[in-house]
Amino acid sequence: MRLDQIILFYLFSLLAGLFFVVLYYRFRRKKLEPEPSEDRVFRCSGCGYVYTDDSDVVFSKCPQCMKMNEEFRF
Ligand SMILES: [Zn+2]
Repeated sequence: MRLDQIILFYLFSLLAGLFFVVLYYRFRRKKLEPEPSEDRVFRCSGCGYVYTDDSDVVFSKCPQCMKMNEEFRF
């Protein structure tokens, strides 16, 4: 391999790697975007404050009065 071929090959693999990284993040963002309201809604039984938290938590602490609350269902 000549030196310019090595450089060309190196640049190409670098670009290909970058391309796949961009593709990966685009795919991940697309997967996340259609469901923006996956968060659970909580309504504080102490002060009535309505807030959201991650969907994987069952109990969430109220940011206003620190009381633990269960998920609020409409
Ligand atoms: Zn509260």
